[in-house]
Amino acid sequence: MTMRFDILTIFPNFFSSPLDYGILSRAIATGMVQVATHDLRDFTHDRHRTVDDRPFGGGEGMVLKPQPIFECIESLGAASNPSNTIELCNEQHINQIDKSGTECNKSITGIAPKFTRDLTRQSVILLSAQGKPFTQATARRLATLDRVVLICGRYEGVDERVSDLLADQELSIGDYVLSGGELAAAVVIDAVVRLLPGVLGHEDSSRYESFGIADIQPGDPADGKTADGVPRSTHGAGGILDYPHYTRPADFRGTSIPEVLAAGDHASIRRWRRQMALAKTLRNRPDLLAHAPLTPEDREVLASLGHKFL
Ligand code: SAM
Repeated sequence: MTMRFDILTIFPNFFSSPLDYGILSRAIATGMVQVATHDLRDFTHDRHRTVDDRPFGGGEGMVLKPQPIFECIESLGAASNPSNTIELCNEQHINQIDKSGTECNKSITGIAPKFTRDLTRQSVILLSAQGKPFTQATARRLATLDRVVLICGRYEGVDERVSDLLADQELSIGDYVLSGGELAAAVVIDAVVRLLPGVLGHEDSSRYESFGIADIQPGDPADGKTADGVPRSTHGAGGILDYPHYTRPADFRGTSIPEVLAAGDHASIRRWRRQMALAKTLRNRPDLLAHAPLTPEDREVLASLGHKFL
């Protein structure tokens, strides 16, 4: 099964570099992921290929017009018709970034109009500083879809009718303002693709990391401990941060690794890692602790570090 991303942008060449390295590049090369960029200027009808205009009501800057975005998304539709999909893939304006050189996936489902769209299979996303926060939970949900369309804004933003009539959701990658949605789209693609089955060498890598899925629950009869009494969860499971990692050399510029990591006692290592994950979360992201499923032992650790539970 191939997951397909379509990016609507006025800078299609922006993406050749972010998609060209590491895990993303490998996922594209092996056909697990397809990424197509669509130049919004190809959907304009004037000599100057105009994509923006002045804001109604006055004010600074320019706004991306709705018409090229609507026509571009409509060209991705008619999807249930497979011949349309093949034609779509062959169209010149689609810069198919597919290192394997394989043909477009002919079974790709076209993008349906907003109100008939099957949201369990596809989503049209407007990248926006005004959007809901993009989180690991959002990435996990998007990773279950077949097709994701990412609309990149520029200038002062995008005509609001795109959000009202085309997009299923507006997503923000953080509380700051970028000059365009392209970096945000690259961030979303990266975070989603690494969660697809088979993309990472080690399935556990995406499970046992910061913001990981809980493997303990509040009220867990074993209090989140394994039979030998050590914490079952050591990593960022349950929405906290990962523990600190070390590699060789054991001594580097006068700083040694924590002794527990070299002693070979796995129960102690697990306990230490959980404590460190909690300490780091308390230090850098105390807000996460309000929603994390914590064991009584976790609570003791946090209390000893000065955390006040409400
Ligand atoms: N006037 C807008 C505001 O104050 O919210 C900012 C527009 S910004 C200069 C241009 C484009 O960059 C936006 O339309 C959006 O696509 C993208 N963008 C900016 N910040 C973003 C963020 N935090 N997350 C996702 N996209 C963002």
